[in-house]
Amino acid sequence: MWHIVSIIFGAIVGSFLNVCIYRVPKGESIVTPGSHCPHCQRPIQFYDNLPLVSYLALRGKCRYCHHPISWQYPLVEGITALSSFLLFNRFGISWSYLFYFSFLASLIVITGIDLFHQIIPDVISLPGIGVGFIASLILPQLTWLNSLIGILLGGGSLFLVAAVYQWLFKREGMGGGDVKLLAMIGAFLGWKSVILTILLGSLVGSIIGVIVMVMKEKDFKYAIPFGPFLSLGAVLSLFYGEKIIQWYSFLNR
Ligand SMILES: [Zn+2]
Repeated sequence: MWHIVSIIFGAIVGSFLNVCIYRVPKGESIVTPGSHCPHCQRPIQFYDNLPLVSYLALRGKCRYCHHPISWQYPLVEGITALSSFLLFNRFGISWSYLFYFSFLASLIVITGIDLFHQIIPDVISLPGIGVGFIASLILPQLTWLNSLIGILLGGGSLFLVAAVYQWLFKREGMGGGDVKLLAMIGAFLGWKSVILTILLGSLVGSIIGVIVMVMKEKDFKYAIPFGPFLSLGAVLSLFYGEKIIQWYSFLNR
């Protein structure tokens, strides 16, 4: 029963995250005005704004002008619902669920905005660092010192890589947004997970990067946003971090 509630709650939050992804980069209010069709501008009624369900009921088209609705909307709602379900499954109704769900929700918004606009807004990552540190004061599995080292290591290490990259190649490879994102990840997950996040994010990012370059026949100057890969790395660290670290230390025995 509660599992279903967690899915519905996740889908509703996902609907709000769509609004954030669409409006935050434009500097618009995320509260007013209400949702409207980006094509015909007509306001969307509440019964056409139910997460996932309305998209299916309307078969992905605006009720009035029949303009296709972006698949981004149900995708984000689905991913957010899944995140909520997985976290509830692991932590139940608890502070851990609440903090990690807000963490994953931030990562979803950051990923969406970084994919479309190649920026990671400070209005999400900077407060995220603070919320992550507050989480360390409440959550039993994360000490404040671990969170603090995570912030410094996350912010510092990528800053160092970015500086070296810029010095070597005379151009910016990673944005300052990635540095703040990694500091936020460190705040929520601690320093070990930050290292794991960088490793996993770089690994997946390089593989996808090479594939994109081969397909588009572009050279290495083609900039691919790093935020989505860091976010993916953070999610893997959150759910499988301990297993991966155990497995790695087992290999090195
Ligand atoms: Zn319309």
